[in-house]
Amino acid sequence: EPQLDQETEIVEEEKTTTRVIYNIVFVTSEAAPYSKTGGLGDVCGSLPVALASRGHRAMVVSPRYLHGTPADKIFDGACDADCRIKIYCFGGKQEVAFFHEYRDGVDWVFVDHPSYHRPGNPYGDSFGAFGDNQFRFTLLCHAACEAPLILPLGGYSYGEKCLFLVNDWHASLVPVLLAAKYRPYGVYKDSRSILVVHNISHQGVEPAVTYSNLGLPPEWYSALEWVFPTWARTHALDPGEAVNILKGAIVTADRILTVSRGYSWEITTAEGGYGLHELLRDRKFVLNGIVNGIDVAEWDPSCDVHISAHYSVDDLSGKVQCKIALQKELGLPVNPDCPLIGFIGRLDYQKGIDLIQSAIPELMQDDIQFVMLGSGDKQYEDWMRAVESTYKDKFRGWVGFNVPISHRITAGCDILLMPSRFEPCGLNQLYAMRYGTVPVVHSTGGLKDTVENFNPYAPGVDGTGTGWTFSPLTKESMLIALGNAIRTYKEYKTSWEGLMKRGMERDSSWDNAAVQYEQVFEWAFIDPP
Ligand code: ADP
Repeated sequence: EPQLDQETEIVEEEKTTTRVIYNIVFVTSEAAPYSKTGGLGDVCGSLPVALASRGHRAMVVSPRYLHGTPADKIFDGACDADCRIKIYCFGGKQEVAFFHEYRDGVDWVFVDHPSYHRPGNPYGDSFGAFGDNQFRFTLLCHAACEAPLILPLGGYSYGEKCLFLVNDWHASLVPVLLAAKYRPYGVYKDSRSILVVHNISHQGVEPAVTYSNLGLPPEWYSALEWVFPTWARTHALDPGEAVNILKGAIVTADRILTVSRGYSWEITTAEGGYGLHELLRDRKFVLNGIVNGIDVAEWDPSCDVHISAHYSVDDLSGKVQCKIALQKELGLPVNPDCPLIGFIGRLDYQKGIDLIQSAIPELMQDDIQFVMLGSGDKQYEDWMRAVESTYKDKFRGWVGFNVPISHRITAGCDILLMPSRFEPCGLNQLYAMRYGTVPVVHSTGGLKDTVENFNPYAPGVDGTGTGWTFSPLTKESMLIALGNAIRTYKEYKTSWEGLMKRGMERDSSWDNAAVQYEQVFEWAFIDPP
């Protein structure tokens, strides 16, 4: 027995002294603060920084979007790396340039091409999604595969032994390119790739004829081969042949990660897999989930630059000032005792806006205020404006994408509502908890993993839990959960304070998640027997 003890000690010692340092290459369509339309931007803006601070070398490759607005100046810090390459795809040669900024220990690399310079957001404008997104993100993937080989960042390139973290369909050609274009020539033999799925409902599906544009050898067609579901076909004889870029990464990446454990299971079910569940089930041995962290410096109620008063778990008094300031800013009656409910997010069917729509007439009977911030589907934007004019004293609908307002709503509200149909991770509930705003969420994916249901009867002073999780996804169960939250807020002040404090004390930092990522990196380099 004593010998065994000795051995374990030695092993542990070795483990602490031989922590592996990786060359990590993130490939992503958005990275905050340079570009962001949702959680993907937040993750790719902060996880690389957390990994770099743990000693890894990290690069983030994303497009240099110029929208022709003052916001473009965010790219001013990135210099032309004086390196142009030609990419053979879409029947021609496309020249792209690289820009580079070294900030917070990370190499931010921006791929420059005229197709990234247009008004709108990274994916589309007011007329809808851009028609050439397959082209734009094919360029990104080819450029990202070249960047580690050719860019002498800080004097020397990343080289051939890299770990590619490819995010969602926009980056999903990377593992296929590694397998089909580079490894047959001995390049990137020692590299590995991990697909990170932030949202499986977007897959980059296009007609099969577009395969020849992607710059892949013909014999790799089956990796992307896909069949459109019957309802998506144009006529009865349409065979529905398509290419699916996300599928390409699912079958070629060394490992697959999702942004919460719950979601990594959901995507293997027929309901949550959007047609890819069987393929994912085949690969479940390399499939894991890690809950996202948040940027705890940007989202900190004790020093947030966007809010009017600061507070912390030890002194909550500033929160009510934030609430009053928000009510004034929104033109709502100033009343610190009236429960203020918030919603922030893309106005999309995924986010369960239809549920809020059906519940509004009943909700507005209560003594509450409700503010929604979001942009997206035009029918929801119009609906928000209409509700605002009907319930002038109770409801505000802010149409637009506005980060400072999102901070003020997170700080000023008492309750944050998230009735998402599915939610791979969800960040707003994490921000809310950190700001002492109690989340009421549908029990799904990352929401279920991060919000603990309130239990007033648990032993202890004021119960356990950090919010309310409701299921099934119906108006009735949402209204019951909201009703419980409103009643607790109004009648049980100590319970409410307990809920706020437990949420504020939750560790949502990236450091926590980064350690788990390192474990998966290690697995990626272990070859199967
Ligand atoms: P998703 O990635 O599905 O959009 P997440 O909850 O993971 O959802 O992340 C959404 C991110 O986008 C959060 O940082 C949220 O604050 C932000 N966001 C969404 N809509 C808006 C908006 N209208 N204005 C400001 N920020 C927004």
